[in-house]
Amino acid sequence: MVARVVPVDPFDLVVFGATGDLARRKLIPALYHRMRDGQAPESARIVGAARSEMDADGFRRMAEEALEEFLPAAERDRASVARFLAMLDYRAVDAMGDGGWDGLSDALSCDAGRPRAFYLSVAPKLFGPIAGRIAAQGLGGDGARIVVEKPLGRDLASARALNAQLAEAFDESRIYRIDHYLGKETVQNLMALRFANALFEPLWNARHVDHVQITVAESVGIEGRGPYYDGVGAMRDMVQNHLLQLLCLTAMEPPARFSADTVRDEKLKVLRALAPLDPREIVRGQYRNGGNATSYIDDAGDPDSRTESYVALKAEVANWRWSGAPFYLRTGKRLRARMSEIAIVFKEAPHSIFPGDEGAERPNMLVIRLQPDEGITLAMTIKDPGPGGMRLTDANLDMTFAQKLGAMTRMPDAYERLVMDVIRGDQTLFMRGDEVEAAWAWIDPAIAAWEAASEKPRPYDIGSSGPEDALMLMHRDHRRWREIKA
Ligand code: NAP
Repeated sequence: MVARVVPVDPFDLVVFGATGDLARRKLIPALYHRMRDGQAPESARIVGAARSEMDADGFRRMAEEALEEFLPAAERDRASVARFLAMLDYRAVDAMGDGGWDGLSDALSCDAGRPRAFYLSVAPKLFGPIAGRIAAQGLGGDGARIVVEKPLGRDLASARALNAQLAEAFDESRIYRIDHYLGKETVQNLMALRFANALFEPLWNARHVDHVQITVAESVGIEGRGPYYDGVGAMRDMVQNHLLQLLCLTAMEPPARFSADTVRDEKLKVLRALAPLDPREIVRGQYRNGGNATSYIDDAGDPDSRTESYVALKAEVANWRWSGAPFYLRTGKRLRARMSEIAIVFKEAPHSIFPGDEGAERPNMLVIRLQPDEGITLAMTIKDPGPGGMRLTDANLDMTFAQKLGAMTRMPDAYERLVMDVIRGDQTLFMRGDEVEAAWAWIDPAIAAWEAASEKPRPYDIGSSGPEDALMLMHRDHRRWREIKA
């Protein structure tokens, strides 16, 4: 199956921080693919901006190296790369000073009807100053959009301050807050599954769902991000944004239609319905030595660090639909495998009619896999095949998207979808300011209570599925986590 490509209008995209890691690893390859597939027109201008002095050719060389480093050879043909590089320009601009802004202005089109976007791939402390300067330089006209990515604050107060700074320069309808999880094909498919099929909706509530598990497990540690990560931790880095966004999409009511504000209104209602977190229902962990790998405190460079590299918690969405069906969330580094999924665990059949099956736990489970191998699985119970009597066994109805899309088609990266949505002016898959604030408002008391306590995170072995206490979090409720496996 070949994906349908709808071209966007010619645009100007300024990437602040164009020489940085995110730009090289994700944005440049994403833009290349959109051009190669015929979605981004070759008349679009992509202007890199950073303090480093270089000319457009220097930036093109850097972009070409980024494509070579981050894309497989099969995705790079000489003609497409040359056409893409011709779309690039560069201006040296210091976001904190006056230098370079006139040059940046000269690099942009004078066509007022052309969408213009500023992607801020820079440290968050630069978001406010850059937004202010864009406005002060008169570059943020009606069609202009600004794109920012986590961390969007480190608590409610700083998130509010950031929202206020952005709002001084850009209307909310032109602010795009990326959570790249929302750009994943499976996450959008969760909405299609729920709202384009009549099958699941009658079952999508606490009467039929026992609980939901959301897991984002990583096998890597914090290498290279040590000092930054140590000031943040898993709760701020992962739960406040990615895991809560996944919870919202799973728990929200059907919006009246698929549009930015109707979807985001429903997600906001979920965040506001979250019961306050019970500190006894949160487990924090830190990975310790194992094999050749170093411990968290070695990676962080602080033997007294109390920052969590793992967190598991039980969340309650206190509304009619979900009351009584908890959402268990867990995320961590240096775990057994890289695996992200949402598992909807349904209630068991009320009564078994099959001899020998009493007491066997056979809940149906709908698993939405984000990585690896994006796809959806429905765990069912069937008869064990053969003439050996009426014995039951588990079987999966499995749909990996790679199969559906066909071996020839590549699964697009989340940034490809999201950057094109910015150009189209579609905010549906981006977080609104009030959502970000509501998420912090829920997380903040749990972080404050933890910081005031003198406890240390629970140690867990590298390559394990997390601390023992996280298993107990489920066992206490007579439930268990799904296995973490690739
Ligand atoms: P990075 O590698 O440190 O790059 C920062 C970029 O900002 C560089 O191009 C740097 O270039 C530029 N810069 C710094 N100060 C500047 C100034 N005063 N004026 C103009 N440009 C300036 O950071 P990154 O990893 O790409 O991350 C960028 C943002 O994305 C951060 O907010 C990060 O939290 C977020 N993020 C990153 C990732 C990722 O995978 N890397 C994932 C999610 C979110 P010069 O030194 O030449 O100015």
